[in-house]
Amino acid sequence: TIHGRGIRKSFGAKTVLTNINLDISSGEVCCVIGPSGSGKSTLLRCVNGLETIDLGVLKVNGDHFGYYETDHAFQAVSRKRLAEQRTKIGMVFQQFNLFPNMTAQENVMAGPVLVKGHKKQEAAKKAQQLLASVGLSGFGGQYPAQLSGGQQQRVAIARSLAMDPDIMLFDEPTSALDPEKVGEVLAVMKDLARKGMTMLVVTHEMGFAREVADSLLFMDEGCIVERGDAREVLANPKERRTQAFLERVL
Ligand code: ATP
Ligand code: MG
Repeated sequence: TIHGRGIRKSFGAKTVLTNINLDISSGEVCCVIGPSGSGKSTLLRCVNGLETIDLGVLKVNGDHFGYYETDHAFQAVSRKRLAEQRTKIGMVFQQFNLFPNMTAQENVMAGPVLVKGHKKQEAAKKAQQLLASVGLSGFGGQYPAQLSGGQQQRVAIARSLAMDPDIMLFDEPTSALDPEKVGEVLAVMKDLARKGMTMLVVTHEMGFAREVADSLLFMDEGCIVERGDAREVLANPKERRTQAFLERVL
């Protein structure tokens, strides 16, 4: 679950997130849409602990991200604690971000072996299963440069799943792909959603949002302007800004 109240984030004098409230329950698939620069990636990066919030409450799986209240004051979560908490959150980026000098299988094994101290043999077996689950059995020995964008992104998803995350965050996972490769990545995400994974997905794929998402957030200028049932918001946006955005992208 993700719980946020009054989240605020600035870079220098520029406020990028203003008073964000979030409630994502276990097993929920939530899509985030909005124009460029509206703060979607920043929100995801806060949820994943890559950025710290300036103000407000952010709890992921019950763990505080950013600050927590003691009897006396608000205290920052320690780096060590944050690093531990972050291992339970998977994140997939637009630019696959695979390790170029490692094979697909080594990419998927790296987290469990290096971070969790799993035995190589065990991690290799699990990596093979995960690669099979994203339709890539037999590709474990290939290096990223030898794989298509769609295949690399599926390796990236398998690599995140290797850490047994409770939550998966996706930041425009199909935006860098050739149109004919988009479907294979969305299919893997759909499968993950069906299996009950909690997912927060920034996407321009309105078909995916309509078909797979439970809820939808529309962001503009650092605020959540509209939220609700995904199909309902897409069919009947209430806010003028949501209407204007959807008219442009649909
Ligand atoms: P896009 O659709 O283009 O990916 P976005 O909705 O993901 O946009 P963000 O990347 O979250 O938007 O950026 C929101 C605003 O914050 C932008 O104005 C951006 O320039 C600014 N910003 C993001 N990261 C930083 C940073 N590290 N330092 C300074 N400004 C930043
Ligand atoms: Mg972004």
